[in-house]
Amino acid sequence: MMRPDLHMHSTASDGTCTPYELARLVQRADVTLFSVTDHDTMTGIPEAIDAAYERGLAFIPGVEISTEGDEEVHILGYGVKYNDPVLTAFFDQMEQERIKRFRTMGKRLIEQGYELPLDNIMSSAGASIGRPHLARALVAAGYVQNTQEAFQKLIGKGCYAYVPRDYLAASKAVSLLRERGAVPVCAHPGLIRWPIEKLLPMIKAWQDAGLMGIEVYHPANKDNYAMWDRLARERRLLVTGGSDYHDGSPGHGLIGETIPAWRTAGEDGWALFQAVRQKN
Ligand SMILES: [Zn+2]
Ligand SMILES: [Zn+2]
Repeated sequence: MMRPDLHMHSTASDGTCTPYELARLVQRADVTLFSVTDHDTMTGIPEAIDAAYERGLAFIPGVEISTEGDEEVHILGYGVKYNDPVLTAFFDQMEQERIKRFRTMGKRLIEQGYELPLDNIMSSAGASIGRPHLARALVAAGYVQNTQEAFQKLIGKGCYAYVPRDYLAASKAVSLLRERGAVPVCAHPGLIRWPIEKLLPMIKAWQDAGLMGIEVYHPANKDNYAMWDRLARERRLLVTGGSDYHDGSPGHGLIGETIPAWRTAGEDGWALFQAVRQKN
């Protein structure tokens, strides 16, 4: 039976492991199907494909698009082609916006007396520079105990240094992924802080735009697995899951973490695998 972990981040975005290292952890956790889903970049995919091949693991190329409206919604795209010219141009544009935002937020922190080497942080970061890099630098400099504290006190929404991202509708990310032959999935609905009366109609609207699945088995949904599982199946959406591994810290999951509670992991992993193949 397949043991899937369909959500993790590499050094191509804000994770601490290279795609090669991720494949090693995947194998060690006895996961047999995995997907690397970096934020707004596909640059880790070629290395992940090689690493999966070397270790005899099943692999689905993925990406996680951060959209921004009155709430940040993440859309996973499975089966993306890493050399797709339209998606590449789209992510390049997002990268320019990310760099601008990182610099503005960094400058605001410096203004407040936090000494941060912005250029060094940028050059040692992969693509997809973002707030997690600032958070880790704040921890490294001893200003906060951990990255969660950095978000709460300094760089989260409502903090002085916080700068909102440019607007990008989740339905636009969904339709773009569909157009490019990928399978769009709503990531970790448990992290979307809308009341359920607002979230459910939104999911319906995204489904009209082409959404094909919901990431039910994510650590953030832990208390509501049964509810999301039922809801996805009632709406004929694929059920997916993954740890959202970044760096092994308590704020994110550990590889393979969601499999024990995910009784249909084998079938659901296979169903996604098939959906990706059909779209390709
Ligand atoms: Zn996410
Ligand atoms: Zn993620």
